[in-house]
Amino acid sequence: MRTQLSLEELRAAVAGPVLSPSDGGFAEEVSAFNRSAVHTPDVVVGVTSEADVVEAVRFAVANELSVRMQATGHGAESAIADGLLITTRRLDALSIDPETRIARIGAGVRWSAVLDAAESLGLTAIVGASGNVGAVGYTLGGGLGPLSRSHGFSSDYARGFTLVIADGSIVNANAEENIDLFWALRGGKGGFGVVTEMQFELVPLTELYAGSIFFDAPNIETVLRSWIDWSATADDQVTTSVAILRLPDFDAIPEPLRGRTLLNLRFAFPGGAAEGERLAAPLRGLAPAIIDTIGVLPTSKVGLIHNDPTEPGPGWVTGGLLSDIDQDFATELLAKIGHEQPVPLIVVELRHLGARTFIDVPEGSAVGGRASGYTLTIVGVPDPGLFAEVLPAVAGQLTSAIAPWISPETTINFAGDGSDAEQFRLAWTPEVHDRLAAIRGRWDPRRLFAYGPVAG
Ligand SMILES: Cc1cc2nc3c(=O)[nH]c(=O)nc-3n(C[C@H](O)[C@H](O)[C@H](O)COP(=O)(O)OP(=O)(O)OC[C@H]3O[C@@H](n4cnc5c(N)ncnc54)[C@H](O)[C@@H]3O)c2cc1C
Repeated sequence: MRTQLSLEELRAAVAGPVLSPSDGGFAEEVSAFNRSAVHTPDVVVGVTSEADVVEAVRFAVANELSVRMQATGHGAESAIADGLLITTRRLDALSIDPETRIARIGAGVRWSAVLDAAESLGLTAIVGASGNVGAVGYTLGGGLGPLSRSHGFSSDYARGFTLVIADGSIVNANAEENIDLFWALRGGKGGFGVVTEMQFELVPLTELYAGSIFFDAPNIETVLRSWIDWSATADDQVTTSVAILRLPDFDAIPEPLRGRTLLNLRFAFPGGAAEGERLAAPLRGLAPAIIDTIGVLPTSKVGLIHNDPTEPGPGWVTGGLLSDIDQDFATELLAKIGHEQPVPLIVVELRHLGARTFIDVPEGSAVGGRASGYTLTIVGVPDPGLFAEVLPAVAGQLTSAIAPWISPETTINFAGDGSDAEQFRLAWTPEVHDRLAAIRGRWDPRRLFAYGPVAG
């Protein structure tokens, strides 16, 4: 029988804050980017070092509490209501070896910090749409960003992880040590341990030819249909996406876009302006632009391609991957969410995959979605009153209409609610899903690290 430990003992053992729900500072410590996920774990530990993580894990084992991790809360889809939450934002160490191009990235580091530090060395990281997202949580799920066709999944660049496992010991997982765990951590996301540091290979690149074009509502259909045809033969070095936006009438949104329904076409080419201009020309010619920002862009500003929100707020997002799309798909999509439809969705986005995303790393990795051609993301109006029923119903009608194009295999960062058993299962091929479950069983036999659907 385990001996229970008191919160006082834990407080004495760790340098960071240890808070229960009645303590001052608890709400701030647990708060997530998605403000609608209001966490109330039994205890939160704001770890400041690997040693703090070890103590927190030992406390959880002794007190039979499940363990979860939060860096930024960008992945917070539902509220955590029990157990021990480890917040990692204080694990903010970051160093780069310019010779090997390996960045050592602490569990609390956001991509923006990596991009800034890398750029000054003539390097960059293959990241997602938003620099605000945590590097470790994102990469554990694979990670598809604005350079995914030219450079693949972000997890393809992970070279190793250091983590605290369920027995409180510290292990490394890389191409030489604990190879099964390394395979799982590149896309298998959670249920293995607390990652304290990721070793990540940077690429030599400081400038892109990239940005986005906003097209007005009457041009949405023409641009969407033309982009679908264009994307079928797009250059492997070019990554594009389209998003039908219903922008609110907020001061934070530039005046020509505020309160309008638009199509935003994003373009990224990791090369020079002359070649980039040539590659972007067919898209620029599709219709008159309201705004066109495509041009030379420093890699540290990659977040300006998608312009994702940076301020926390309530959020409702779902999505998945699509195998392929065609004009019949466009017809179904526009019938549901074309500019004349009064739907409470602020973003419906399609990202073009393929080229490098189709190619696994030589030693193999767990990431789901290699075979899919496009992503689908549906973001609801940020009104929590709509989250329980209205938005799931609207999104459900859309996904039913486009069911023939939905890929049988998604990827966990785009799978919506990972606590939903069906969405969780589909985030990998059946073989990979089962291999991940077996590896979780080996590394965490008592399921200390709560992850995935409750009965999964
Ligand atoms: C605005 C926005 C833009 C996004 N853009 C993209 C995109 O372009 N491409 C893409 O692929 N995804 C994207 N995502 C999804 C995002 O990658 C995932 O939500 C990711 O999990 C966020 O990681 P985080 O650490 O910031 O979030 P958190 O909510 O802090 O963590 C999410 C999960 O990551 C795991 N995790 C975090 N830290 C650790 C750790 N130290 N050890 C073990 N597990 C850990 C845990 O399972 C945790 O529940 C976006 C999300 C948002 C909200």
